[in-house]
Amino acid sequence: MELSTRRVDNVPGVQKRSTSIKISMYAAAPEEEISLDEFELFALDRLQLLRGIESLKTRGIDGAELNTKLNQLENKYMPMRTREQIGDNRKDQISHFILRLAYCWNEDLRRWFLTHESHLFKFRLDRLSDQDRADFMIANGLSFEQLSSEAKTDLKDKLIGLAGVEESKFPSAIYYKVPFALALSLIGSRSVYLERGFAYVPLSKLVSIITSKFKIHLTRSLAEAAHMFEPVSSDPRIGALLKNMSKQYVGKDFTASKTSALDKLYPEQVDEAAERHMPLCMKYLHSNLKRDGKLKHWGRLQYGLFLKGAGLELENAILFWQSFFTKVMSADAFSKQYAYSFRHMYGKEGSRKNYTPFSCYKIIMGTPPEPGAFHGCPFRHMPDNQLAAQLEALKMPSSEVQELVRTAKSGNPQIACQRHFDWAHPGHQTMVVEGGGRLAEAANHPNQWYQSSVLYYRTKNGISSTSSASVKSETPPAGGVGSAEAVAPSVEATG
Ligand code: SF4
Repeated sequence: MELSTRRVDNVPGVQKRSTSIKISMYAAAPEEEISLDEFELFALDRLQLLRGIESLKTRGIDGAELNTKLNQLENKYMPMRTREQIGDNRKDQISHFILRLAYCWNEDLRRWFLTHESHLFKFRLDRLSDQDRADFMIANGLSFEQLSSEAKTDLKDKLIGLAGVEESKFPSAIYYKVPFALALSLIGSRSVYLERGFAYVPLSKLVSIITSKFKIHLTRSLAEAAHMFEPVSSDPRIGALLKNMSKQYVGKDFTASKTSALDKLYPEQVDEAAERHMPLCMKYLHSNLKRDGKLKHWGRLQYGLFLKGAGLELENAILFWQSFFTKVMSADAFSKQYAYSFRHMYGKEGSRKNYTPFSCYKIIMGTPPEPGAFHGCPFRHMPDNQLAAQLEALKMPSSEVQELVRTAKSGNPQIACQRHFDWAHPGHQTMVVEGGGRLAEAANHPNQWYQSSVLYYRTKNGISSTSSASVKSETPPAGGVGSAEAVAPSVEATG
């Protein structure tokens, strides 16, 4: 089946993309036919790339290490090999426009896409030679005024020393005159010379100014695309993919059949596992289940599938849930009203679909908890004071609590969650785990958080992943995961 992509925007004054330059402002959507397979493949590869960038940022990686890892990510998912590789440019262009459409229809999605596309853009722009950067600016109508030789000579004393341009390199250096307001980010680092409302900027320092322009352009384009989302997403061939793109989880599948002791969980271990190894979202669900003897629909689904991914098998899951629900209802009522839904989760009823545990994306972007419900991501959905109380209950120092609440509030729930993991597992960044690698980044998937935590304690205590030792036999390190239970809120569960 052939599919025609559509133009979603056109920015006046910006020239059409040049296929000879390995970076783009994505001013005009490609107009060509592509297959549905390519449509999906390109979109998912770009999604992996952007999520990889998010993951690197979440882990606080920057500088040369960030560039090296970004390079590896790009080569894996969206290689931009040589100037002649039209195929690479094509994939880059098409995938950008598909994701632009998929991420245009609400504020959170737009912010996410803008943030990570801008990182990618800046990384690529930084990497260009001065000449390629100048070519890119010309090709994209970024018409800053270049200083003539005479003007440059007149300002020589002011310009030498800016952004590391020494006297010996001054004759070949290129400078631009840009409006002062566009160069604000460079003033603090003394990378520009200011005079009469203009900033004189070395070519190498134009990156942040061009990236600002890119962000302005992309912000506007996302708003324009949002107006087109309804008609485009009503196309049955691509509608479901576009609407669900942000919830696509592209990491490890936690429903795969498990064999090692690490991947088995028994009802009597869940309480302790919640205390030591679960991320805040699951600790919170667990403590409310214990308190109320039940959870509402989304809470059962989020926690039930998490426990399934953590290795709680169906029979044990029924025993586990029954032990709580029968505090507020008879065994018969549990059996009639709820046992079916747990068997359904394990693919034993109804459509017999093997449901996968929710990823952080799905939880963060999913239905927010209504009063009396406890699902969702605490770093995204909890009021600040409640989140702070949850973290304080883990014995986290108040300065760290404030920092995490600030991070969560600024729209970075996964960064805050990763910091929670870092605090709870001191030294994990340098720990070499069984098999020779490092612990996987935790705040992508609650089950990854859990597995990384279990692996951390096993490594710390010299327990092999093939050993039959249970999570109970491990000893948490001092200053590690707090022993206090997550604080239950005062609202009553009703459903
Ligand atoms: Fe749970 Fe993910 Fe939120 Fe962490 S970021 S609390 S693992 S949903």
